[in-house]
Amino acid sequence: MYTCQHCDIVLNYASAVLYTLAKQAKTLGAYKLTRQVLDKMQSLRVPPRFQEYVDLSSLMVRAKPYHDGEDLLPMCYRCSTYNPLMTSAANCCTNCRQPFVHSFVSFEILPLVEFQLEPGISDEDAMRLIEAPAPVATEDAGWSQSAGDNFEALRLDEQTSDPFTARLLSLQSEDEEEFVPVIVNRPTLQVMDPGSVLVCQQPPPLGYQFYRNLLPDLQITLCPSCNKIFHVDDFEMQVLQKGHCPFCRSESNTFKDMSED
Ligand SMILES: [Zn+2]
Ligand SMILES: [Zn+2]
Repeated sequence: MYTCQHCDIVLNYASAVLYTLAKQAKTLGAYKLTRQVLDKMQSLRVPPRFQEYVDLSSLMVRAKPYHDGEDLLPMCYRCSTYNPLMTSAANCCTNCRQPFVHSFVSFEILPLVEFQLEPGISDEDAMRLIEAPAPVATEDAGWSQSAGDNFEALRLDEQTSDPFTARLLSLQSEDEEEFVPVIVNRPTLQVMDPGSVLVCQQPPPLGYQFYRNLLPDLQITLCPSCNKIFHVDDFEMQVLQKGHCPFCRSESNTFKDMSED
């Protein structure tokens, strides 16, 4: 039988990746993922050295519950959906299609949601609005109270000012396949806490990318050279150990200050 050498190499790599994934998933207790990966391997021509492991593990995993632990599932910070470990969606939430943002050291998902500006707002305008002090809150509390003879009602205003929450609410009723980004207008930019906004200032023609940190207590930073995003703790540890950004290896003055502290 003629076999293509190139296809063999590709198959060997694919099997090695799936083999590693199956082993790790089994160790962590993600039995659903283990079964999916082993089923996939059964459909491939795996190298003989993996075959015994695939056959034995496929039998053993059938005695385990067909689900993955909730603490292992990637959560979408925009719609709070727990996503399956193996999906056809490319690195985005299966519910709202919001792309995940990873820390470029540990590759865990960061609580960031990218937003876009309303047409007519330039990147510089947006920066100015975010950094400007928030306007004093108006009297309108966003709710009204009314009482009758036999009822008492509290009505919350439909028009919520935060598009992040608004989007979250509308997601529950809509069933759409396409990704709709969070669009932010001027008043929302003005009331945003600058500490919870992260801006990747990409050089032209790329423009700026804006992210909102939905867990502001969790500190997130970005490398000024490559614009990759990191957990502050991960990033500082890497800079102290290596003296440069873990992704682009740039040694800017900011990093030097950090390692001298
Ligand atoms: Zn989502
Ligand atoms: Zn970098």
